[in-house]
Amino acid sequence: MSQIDEKLEPILAEVLRRNAGEPEFHQAVREVLESLGRVIAKHPDYLNNALIERICEPERQIIFRIPWVDDAGQVQINRGFRVQFNSALGPYKGGVRFHPSVNVGIIKFLGFEQTFKNALTGMPIGGGKGGSDFNPRGRSDAEIMRFCQSFMTELYRHLGEYTDVPAGDIGVGGREIGYLFGQYKRLTNRYEAGVLTGKGLVYGGSRARTEATGYGAVYFVERMLATRDRDLGGLRAVVSGSGNVAIYAMEKLAEFGGKVVACSDSNGYVVDEDGIDLDLVKEIKEVRRGRISEYAKAKGGTVKYIDDGSIWDVPCHIALPSATQNELTGRDSRELVKNGVLAVGEGANMPSTPEAVRIFQEAGVLFAPGKAANAGGVATSALEMQQNASRDSWTFEQTEARLAGIMRDIHDRCAATAEEYGAPGDYVLGANIAGFVRVAEAMEALGVI
Ligand code: GLU
Repeated sequence: MSQIDEKLEPILAEVLRRNAGEPEFHQAVREVLESLGRVIAKHPDYLNNALIERICEPERQIIFRIPWVDDAGQVQINRGFRVQFNSALGPYKGGVRFHPSVNVGIIKFLGFEQTFKNALTGMPIGGGKGGSDFNPRGRSDAEIMRFCQSFMTELYRHLGEYTDVPAGDIGVGGREIGYLFGQYKRLTNRYEAGVLTGKGLVYGGSRARTEATGYGAVYFVERMLATRDRDLGGLRAVVSGSGNVAIYAMEKLAEFGGKVVACSDSNGYVVDEDGIDLDLVKEIKEVRRGRISEYAKAKGGTVKYIDDGSIWDVPCHIALPSATQNELTGRDSRELVKNGVLAVGEGANMPSTPEAVRIFQEAGVLFAPGKAANAGGVATSALEMQQNASRDSWTFEQTEARLAGIMRDIHDRCAATAEEYGAPGDYVLGANIAGFVRVAEAMEALGVI
């Protein structure tokens, strides 16, 4: 593991002390602070005015009760969160996650990552994240609606197109955003389209937003490969997950001539040597809201479903972890390296453990951290805000072209920053430093707030 500069050690120690029992948040902060040693060596002024301490402390954290009534007439209670991390560059911006694992530490890590990710996009958006420990699995549509309405009944007072703009994340897609927007509109009596992104096309959504995170990650990987004079044509790919990010990453990989042979959900993974049939995955996941095991049942033949192993045992040139945090471990990365992986792009937020990242980098594998590789989703959310503000609606081609340009710029900014700070090819360092510097400059300009 790389070292933290001794001047930054007390800052980390204070974060650990103040946020006890929040390992994912500690992990995210540690990784960024590890990159900042080279920055403060060049620019010691960043140590002034507790700037870095302030960046590590959320501006505001909201925790609230969400009561709702299930289909059996029973009252259920969940906990809701919104961590408004940093608004130096624009309104807080970031998704909400509905998953039983959600707690304040998870939301804080996501909000911290989001702040740097959003800065990297070059767009005027601050960082925030929210969610609930609500488990949508097996819930009826009516239960999902009542839950979303109750969630928004508390959250709406903290939102606004100039204040805080949530979107989706794990467990929150187009259906949930619709219910959340409906309740916000009802409570405020305002048709404030720019208060949420990931909306449906009929009520102010942006074309290409659904596809953006997955497509963007593949654009990023394609650009990394180009630095070694390669492209995706003919390469084998494995994409973990089968949600919104994974589905559209697989779609773009196939479009670029790659062959995706495996994908997964939280129960297991499927391997299809003929190439994953995306129409079937979409039907199972987006329409039926079913399990990936149904893919193997529907296909039969040589398709394998495995529920007691790691998807990263499947040999591939391109790995896109697109499920959840810390899903790809040191053991997995060793296996991938042994099997000749060329490039890894994080579609999810922080899916590789620190040990896994180190192993990839030491082996010379091209490694794109989530805050750079998966920034296409939030960047397209910012494009949605732009369309809402101008009461305009762009074509798919126009929007995708903007996304492609943004991903190219993020890649090049990370690469140039890594080079400038003496670590060519280190996209982790490049992303952390480039994101940090943009936030830091705005914070310096705004005074001690
Ligand atoms: N949840 C997504 C992310 O992790 C998207 C956030 C957004 O569009 O605001 O970046």
